[in-house]
Amino acid sequence: MTQPFFTVEMLPARHGDALWIEYGDERRTRRILIDGGPLHAWPDFAARIGKLPAGDQRIELLVITHVDTDHIEGIIRLLALPRAKWPLEPMDIWFNGYRQIEAQKDLGGREGEFLSALIHRRAFDEWNRAFGRNAVVVPGKGPLPRIALPDKDGMVLTLLSPDKAKLTAMGKRWRKDVAQWELDPGDLDAAWAQLVDEAKFHPGAELTLGPEDLTAQLRAQLKGADASAANGSSIAFLAEYAGKSCLFLADAHMKTVCASIRRLLAPGQDALRVDAVKLAHHGSRNNLTPEFMQLVDAEHFLFSSNGDKFKHPDAQAVQAVIHGARRKPTLWFNYRSAFNERWEAGSQAANAAYATRYPAPGAAGITVPLLA
Ligand SMILES: [Zn+2]
Repeated sequence: MTQPFFTVEMLPARHGDALWIEYGDERRTRRILIDGGPLHAWPDFAARIGKLPAGDQRIELLVITHVDTDHIEGIIRLLALPRAKWPLEPMDIWFNGYRQIEAQKDLGGREGEFLSALIHRRAFDEWNRAFGRNAVVVPGKGPLPRIALPDKDGMVLTLLSPDKAKLTAMGKRWRKDVAQWELDPGDLDAAWAQLVDEAKFHPGAELTLGPEDLTAQLRAQLKGADASAANGSSIAFLAEYAGKSCLFLADAHMKTVCASIRRLLAPGQDALRVDAVKLAHHGSRNNLTPEFMQLVDAEHFLFSSNGDKFKHPDAQAVQAVIHGARRKPTLWFNYRSAFNERWEAGSQAANAAYATRYPAPGAAGITVPLLA
């Protein structure tokens, strides 16, 4: 009798994301890594990766969702090591570089060029392997891409974001961004040369009423107003394993994600039932909409941020989850911060409408055991 497991670890990535997923059974542990946090979170990130047992450093998939520094810097630092010294061995690497974006072929912005140059030199064969080395993108029509990772009855990922329009918008921003660094987009040799000079990279009770319970005021504040091309280009997907599921939304735009979720619904089905949601953009109110809360039926809501820089999560987003969830929600935070600790009291009342989970006192990072 095999005992499957599926856990999501929100590593302490400061204001960014670094998500370590483990699944499998007693015979074998499989792993997926999504993003690497900002550079100043590198020591914690490196320490976690360093715990991989010697001789078992394979990960099925490395996803770099988009080019913003709070997601990409740790990965650049990691891949800047000579490949023989990488502490992990990815079988596939999903990242939309400039060439993929423009070909609809490497990926955006200066950090994007750095990462593209690294993957191009160190892991060309693994680059967007599941997508035939083309862009990771949701097609305009037809079924959403479904990627089955190894093993019979293994992990299945369904791509939700980005769509072509979001990649095109990112291509524009990419050209603008690299121009100020005197880089030609997609010129990986030039990016490599600049990278070499950047020394920093080296070494319960159903008390909630559902989406209709959102107040008019809250609805007015949740418009999906995030206009960032980089965020919009986020790779987001549904991960399903052994009957458990989680939406990994990176910093994606809700319109794109909702359009994809609608494509997954059977006729007559009004919501996608999943176990967990890693909320988009660290719980920004600009990346959560009533439409999303309507379309998703989940129990666990994951907030990845220590509140630095943008004071995430926004109170409006947390309220939208508490009042808009179709089931009594449990909120998971990977730090205890001035921006999230206010939610604890309300979760401890008798008949509380929601539950909260924080790291142990003095610790950072938290593991969500979807199946343990
Ligand atoms: Zn972010």
